[in-house]
Amino acid sequence: MRALVWHGRTDVRCDTVPDPVIEEPRDAIVKVTATAICGSDLHLYDGYIPAMENGDILGHEFMGEVVEIGAGNTKLKAGDRVVVPFNICCGECFFCRKGLWSCCERTNRDADKAREMFGHNTGGLFGYSHLTGHYPGGQAEYVRVPFADVAPTKVPDGFSDEQLLFLTDILPTGYQGAVYADIEDGDTVAIWGAGPVGQMALRSAQMLGAGHVIAIDRVPERLTMAAEAGAETIDFDHEDVYERLNKATNGRGPDRVIEAVGMEAHGSGSWDTWGDRALAATGLGTDRIHALRECVRNVRAGGTVSVSGVFGGYVNGFPFGAAVQKGLTIRAGQCNVLNYMETLIRAIQDGKIDPAFAITHRCGLEDGPKMYDTFKKKEDGCIKVVMHPHR
Ligand code: NAD
Ligand code: ZN
Ligand code: ZN
Repeated sequence: MRALVWHGRTDVRCDTVPDPVIEEPRDAIVKVTATAICGSDLHLYDGYIPAMENGDILGHEFMGEVVEIGAGNTKLKAGDRVVVPFNICCGECFFCRKGLWSCCERTNRDADKAREMFGHNTGGLFGYSHLTGHYPGGQAEYVRVPFADVAPTKVPDGFSDEQLLFLTDILPTGYQGAVYADIEDGDTVAIWGAGPVGQMALRSAQMLGAGHVIAIDRVPERLTMAAEAGAETIDFDHEDVYERLNKATNGRGPDRVIEAVGMEAHGSGSWDTWGDRALAATGLGTDRIHALRECVRNVRAGGTVSVSGVFGGYVNGFPFGAAVQKGLTIRAGQCNVLNYMETLIRAIQDGKIDPAFAITHRCGLEDGPKMYDTFKKKEDGCIKVVMHPHR
């Protein structure tokens, strides 16, 4: 089959690789009808997440048709149309029973490495390095889905792949970002990053009662897309974010802030960004956290900082004093996709959201490598790329 394969930093190729096969009784093989490139994939592409190996198949946002199931899988049958959450979870362990699907303690085949890096084991993820189980991903014609009787969810008829695909990641991720922000009716919510995750967080914040939403980015078409949803926008390259936010909130700062940027934040020449770069270049630091610092500095006292962006290692210069002195609540995490699945399928059915709005580019797998580059460089108005491997 054809699949997008990581060969090194900024080196993704569309290769011919062996077809996946059933390995465990609860597995399913899914024929991928639609798959997307995520901002999280860019962290792999750029070499920020350690433990990628030459030959790893990428992709954790995918859906399709079940074509084969293991003998122990009683939930699915061939022909079912499913969305597949990016978390791989067993459904039975301590964490799965608590709805902490992203921390499943049985699905990460690289548990020792995760423990060494994070203190404890975290769950398995598709296409996301030899820290999270080295599972081949879904930017491919076919994919093996382990524990397929837990997370894969049958979807309702009458909706296109493009309307449903983002249930696998960015829609619930944005929604969890808004849930973790503890939004109260009428709150002002500022969101750093107007990429796909920020866009979903923005619309989720509105669904959850935000009175005023402010989107911060520097890419014009992303700010325009946020404005189209009714957000106020700030271009951090050309405007003073702190001033604008205080002006909008009687000098208090936004009630809730959401970080939807992650570990490769830009800083518009700010001193802290140069510090991050210098540390990364000398191996003394890993993540570039300018947007996270901005979140903590700008949020009002007693407010909430909800972090949807992915961070991988150690952060330097985190304004923890501000967090303590202002009495902030900080929440973070990989999305526990399954917790929001029912709510969000209903939101799509009820017409409260049509996630396909974010798609700007469509192609086959062959053009995937080129689209990684376009998406990374934010060229050609690229906001979200969807690939259709069998068209
Ligand atoms: P993206 O790269 O398309 O978007 C990031 C946006 O942040 C870009 O538009 C960029 O211009 C903007 N940005 C950069 N520096 C900024 C700054 N200082 N202030 C404001 N904006 C800034 O990526 P995406 O797909 O939207 O993903 C965003 C983050 O969410 C990534 O870190 C990704 O890994 C993460 N993510 C997390 C989960 C999860 O489960 N927690 C799931 C999916 C994605
Ligand atoms: Zn993703
Ligand atoms: Zn589990």
